Amino acid sequence: MRRGQYVKAVTRHSAKFRKGRRMKIAFIGLGNMGAPMASNLVAAGHEVNGFDLSAPCPDGVTKASSATSAVENADVVITMLPNGAILQSVAAEIIPAMSPDAVFLDCSTVDVESARAVADQATAANLMAVDAPVSGGIGGAAAGTLTFMAGGSDAGLAKVEPLFDIMGQKAVHCGASGAGQAAKICNNMILGITMAGTCEAFALADKLGLDRQKMFDVVSTSSGYSWTMNAYCPAPGVGPQSPADNDYKPGFASELMLKDLRLSQQAAEAVDADTPMGERATALYTDFVESEDGQGTDFSAMLPRFEKRGRS
Ligand code: NAD
Repeated sequence: MRRGQYVKAVTRHSAKFRKGRRMKIAFIGLGNMGAPMASNLVAAGHEVNGFDLSAPCPDGVTKASSATSAVENADVVITMLPNGAILQSVAAEIIPAMSPDAVFLDCSTVDVESARAVADQATAANLMAVDAPVSGGIGGAAAGTLTFMAGGSDAGLAKVEPLFDIMGQKAVHCGASGAGQAAKICNNMILGITMAGTCEAFALADKLGLDRQKMFDVVSTSSGYSWTMNAYCPAPGVGPQSPADNDYKPGFASELMLKDLRLSQQAAEAVDADTPMGERATALYTDFVESEDGQGTDFSAMLPRFEKRGRS
């Protein structure tokens, strides 16, 4: 991560920080997202103790010897971990070591059941729990412009709101525990479906002899417009800069899209929701990541995938 990327955040947050008190924060999971988020908290003047099984601590974050020692006396414990199983095992380890009245703030993208199970455990231990997955990717994490989708009590939200202001530009209180994950899963199901639709439409347009720029000019200002077409166009050289212009290097990796689509289908199964488009998008990304060459590419690389294929 380039240091310069934090400069704007530091300037913006130091003004905000003067309004709030210095908190003691534990940050567990300092990977691609967690490291820049923790750095922004440090830059805003908070004391941050970090723990990760393998990633190094960013500058200014004090490295703890274990997850348990990181959370001791912390006002807020933030987790940014790969999945629900890991979150649940970390939660079981750290909740007994957390101070009463501390907030357990999970920002990972996980299944709704894991989010609710962790919240129940935290509440049973007299802690507050907030699930607040994010949208905005590593660029948003570095710039402090993430969007948080939060589930939990008003009291828990009130305590972590100043931190949302530092790490993000917007936080929506979606409802009770698990509601943040529910919003994230629904949003990303739409994203996966829309990207697949945008890519197959470009591939069809190619075969119909339609110029890609003309296709963009029409669709981006017509009823087919979408975030995937207008802001993240999967066709190289067309529309604003996107991973397509960088040989489909992520960006948002296809395997992360697949993870989120699978979470949407797991949730749909659990509540008996009919999601045929989500199911189809999940199947497409499963083939792309597991049997084709999608692993490690941006999720918009569905376009070259469709380009090479015919109907059968
Ligand atoms: P990452 O793999 O880069 O980071 C996860 C970190 O967790 C790793 O450094 C890993 O060592 C650490 N970890 C794993 N098990 C641990 C344990 N038991 N104790 C301590 N540390 C442990 O992943 P990421 O890209 O930072 O994503 C984190 C979360 O954010 C995921 O749930 C992901 O779906 C979500 N997310 C990612 C993006 C993105 O663009 N990368 C965008 C939105 C949401």
